[in-house]
Amino acid sequence: MTTLDPIPLWIDGRAVDARSGRTFISENPATGKPLAVIQEAGVEDVGSAVAAAKAAFPIWSGMTGAERGRILHRAAQILRARNDAIARLEVLDTGKPIAEARVVDVTSGADCLEFFAGLAAAIAGEHIDLGGAFAYTRREPLGVCAGIGAWNYPIQIACWKAAPALACGNTMVFKPSETTPVTAIELAKALAEAGAPPGVFNIVQGAAETGRALVAHPDVAKVSLTGSVPTGKRAMAAAAETLKHVTMELGGKSPLLVFDDAHIENAVSAALNANFYTQGEVCSNGTRVFVHRRIRDAFVDTMMPRIQRMRIGDPLDPETTVGALISRVHMEKVLGYVELGLKEGAKLLCGGARVTDGACADGWFVTPTVFEALDDSLAIVREEIFGPVMTLLVFDDEDEAVARANATPFGLAAGLFTRDLARAHRVAARLEAGTVWINDYNVTPIEMPFGGVKQSGLGRENGLAAIEHYTQRKSVFVQLGDVATSFL
Ligand code: NAD
Repeated sequence: MTTLDPIPLWIDGRAVDARSGRTFISENPATGKPLAVIQEAGVEDVGSAVAAAKAAFPIWSGMTGAERGRILHRAAQILRARNDAIARLEVLDTGKPIAEARVVDVTSGADCLEFFAGLAAAIAGEHIDLGGAFAYTRREPLGVCAGIGAWNYPIQIACWKAAPALACGNTMVFKPSETTPVTAIELAKALAEAGAPPGVFNIVQGAAETGRALVAHPDVAKVSLTGSVPTGKRAMAAAAETLKHVTMELGGKSPLLVFDDAHIENAVSAALNANFYTQGEVCSNGTRVFVHRRIRDAFVDTMMPRIQRMRIGDPLDPETTVGALISRVHMEKVLGYVELGLKEGAKLLCGGARVTDGACADGWFVTPTVFEALDDSLAIVREEIFGPVMTLLVFDDEDEAVARANATPFGLAAGLFTRDLARAHRVAARLEAGTVWINDYNVTPIEMPFGGVKQSGLGRENGLAAIEHYTQRKSVFVQLGDVATSFL
């Protein structure tokens, strides 16, 4: 018995049954119970979706940017009007608190659609004066783009990929995570109602096999994937077969540096946000919190009571601040890291346990956890846990903090707290990360490019930068003289 109606694929502007005949179940992480039956796209279904996107490409890319922008804008309005219903679905599917989902997930997705709706008419090439000749560049769409999502921000990720792709004149086949496949279709419906021609945006649900079929399809020009580093590497290798463009938004183990002149209350707020928001299931989380030795005690004394006040429980309760982890398997992975941390000699300052009472009885709830470690080589310091586990590390000077912060193959984000202006910008420049927050953390306005360096990814989502990644330049040379150039 599931709570929601079965969810079909969305191909060529309408809901369709999967030809694969296969289905899978999405579970509610807060109850451990089945939430919905989802149709699974097989290779043939992926082929139909790509064919629909390919057929729609000349129509969509032939429209003016202003026309595409109007459609994206209307879709954003439709999503905003349905915010509460979609937020509720997102909570049931992800286990995140409703208080977050109401203000972040759909909102951020709609912000993104609006931002790129506004830009659509402004996407333009350049004029290059060559004296007696000139050249211009055309900024052309790539064709059919494949979007592949992770499970932590399902509708937001779908919008972050669809909005820039569609604004630039591309069409898209989007595969949501198999763990959170429920809400992507809401974006497809909104776009269709807003007037997007059939085939412009298609949804194929399924797991890695579906993703692989999409990446391998010869008519897909670009793959934009949000997921873990190993998945990103596999998808990128497969995309190389036909030299597809790629944007890879991958994992991280980001540092947050708190200097001894920091505003401690604010730094603690950021550290909490950077570790326990969405149960710690955020790619850019600042899970390595480096605190200057002089303020270590003040930092911990300020933070602990605030952690005790967090409310872990039913994600649909507006008072809940920490919801359920995405699955039993993931919860066990997180608890495995807690055990490993203890075994490796890290000191557990709080948390580290599964919660099984009251509203949490049947779901995958873990208390906000803080370790203190003396050694950066521990697995809990090096590896992405993707759960509510913070590691506190003490440092003595700036060079040491920067060197330790950068000693990781990841480079998604970083944060620093200081009231010294010169130090703030000096350290921001030295940190190896795609985004650095000064005196804040995990703020991702749509106007600001987002993405990783090193093994955290390639390409950028959001901001003007995303346009680069969904278009290609064509140079057109124009001879104004009456003789063509010849060396022969
Ligand atoms: P995952 O890597 O397991 O899966 C990501 C997506 O890739 C899923 O849709 C999955 O079905 C698909 N997939 C798996 N194998 C594939 C293949 N061979 N070819 C094509 N597609 C394939 O990641 P997840 O567990 O869903 O998400 C958590 C990870 O995502 C974490 O590492 C997190 O840091 C990262 N993440 C990154 C960002 C970012 O913007 N950088 C945002 C959110 C999550």
